[in-house]
Amino acid sequence: MTTLPDAKLFINGQLRDATGGRTYDVISPWTGAPVGKAADATAEDVEAAIVAARNAFDNTDWSTNKEKRLALVKKYRELFEANREKLGALAVHEAGAALGAVDKAHVSMALGGWDDYLAVFDRVVWEKDYGNKFGYGYESKRVAHYEPVGVVAAITPWNVPLYVNIGKVVAALLAGCTVILKPAPDTPGAGAIFGELAKEAGFPDGVINVVFGADPALAGEMMVKDPRVDLVSFTGSTAVGKRIMEQGAPTLKRVFLELGGKSAKIVLDDSQNFAMDVLTTMLVFHAGQGCAVQSRLLVPESRYEEAKAILKQGYAGLGDNWGDVSNPEHIMGPVINKRQLERVLGYIQLGKDEGATLLHGGAARPDKGDGYFVEPTVFVDVTNDMRIAQEEIFGPVLVVIPYKDDEDAIRIANESAYGLSGGVSGSFDRAMKMAKRIRTGSVGVNNGMCIAGDIPFGGYKASGIGREWGVEGIEEFLETKMIAYPVAAA
Ligand code: NAD
Repeated sequence: MTTLPDAKLFINGQLRDATGGRTYDVISPWTGAPVGKAADATAEDVEAAIVAARNAFDNTDWSTNKEKRLALVKKYRELFEANREKLGALAVHEAGAALGAVDKAHVSMALGGWDDYLAVFDRVVWEKDYGNKFGYGYESKRVAHYEPVGVVAAITPWNVPLYVNIGKVVAALLAGCTVILKPAPDTPGAGAIFGELAKEAGFPDGVINVVFGADPALAGEMMVKDPRVDLVSFTGSTAVGKRIMEQGAPTLKRVFLELGGKSAKIVLDDSQNFAMDVLTTMLVFHAGQGCAVQSRLLVPESRYEEAKAILKQGYAGLGDNWGDVSNPEHIMGPVINKRQLERVLGYIQLGKDEGATLLHGGAARPDKGDGYFVEPTVFVDVTNDMRIAQEEIFGPVLVVIPYKDDEDAIRIANESAYGLSGGVSGSFDRAMKMAKRIRTGSVGVNNGMCIAGDIPFGGYKASGIGREWGVEGIEEFLETKMIAYPVAAA
């Protein structure tokens, strides 16, 4: 049986146990059994991390020495490269990634995103000349200076932890901020490695800190409420995102939120590749635990029966080829934990109760192991007002909704509290026109890839505020300061 190395906190340049030596078990989603131990941070540890990050921002040259931080971030990247195997093991045994999904969604995608940040770094604007203007009898020259915002709390989820941790930590460091990374309780190792490798890279004390614990809220809430933290960058559920806004309000915290989704893929009746367009929505990869997955499939009434038959065949073709931890071909494993398994099964029951038809799957699969296995599942005859069409399930459950015409498809896609991603497939001009009317942060036309480290990603509506990745992702961590002076003084 695999045992992961102990996950240690990283505070003020020290890899540390929690105060009092408290630990908690990291549970494998595959077996339901402990697979490692993690430090269980106390309030004292979180306080120490905040003090360290504040001190490193206020009293060192980290925020002003761009060359130094670029060199360190590059060195850090090389150390992550050298640890690919360990990163892969964490994705499998902490996050429950199947071997066939490890590289794509976890290791290569995440490290590729890091490279993208480094590639776009040159395009960050640090100063902008706004020209001269007369006022009060003299002329002033006005220049905007873009400065790091300060201490950043990066609070992240368990589904693609390396990718999200990189999305926040690397951008904040490049911007000149200091960071406290707070990974989810299920995936502490994917956070702890940021401390281990920061130590090896030689970052100044306090520039990067990593805290985690069994209590999902303790460290996050402390940081959200603390006036010494300037910005909270959060990825996770919409419910917690709202709480962060509420709890950050008394200190007018800058918040950046990447939240849930219920994205729609619209397949048009004139799709050149109807079967492929339908099959690419099979919600199997990483057991459907992706925020931007297209979990509502919208097909025209005129081709609904055909779509059903295609899906039936597609899922039958997949058969039982999922859920084996040692099979490199498998792209789907368990869901993350018992609570999530119960939640997904609860939604499957709800779908039946709401009158949707189960086309495939729908059951827990304890025969696959003592972990948290649920079958790839598809509901058809779904209407958009059903809860299974409105709420984020975050599991391998696809819902298929019929529509009458283009207007109806757009209406259904937009009748959602969320607005993270989506897709339209069909003749190009028609699909483009529709894509422009969908109220989401990204849309793939004819399966165009709209998620990558060099372009901005984020949500409309309840899917979030702000953008991560790309130049915009680094600029999220900057403040604008205008400096003006009389021209004669120049
Ligand atoms: P979650 O909201 O429960 O937890 C996310 C993080 O917030 C964890 O680190 C958790 O410990 C912490 N947290 C919990 N309560 C907190 C509080 N009161 N104050 C501060 N921090 C708190 O989400 P999850 O279950 O870990 O992840 C699943 C959710 O994340 C899904 O809704 C999914 O859509 C979303 N997600 C979104 C994106 C995106 O980019 N939009 C990416 C991945 C996951």
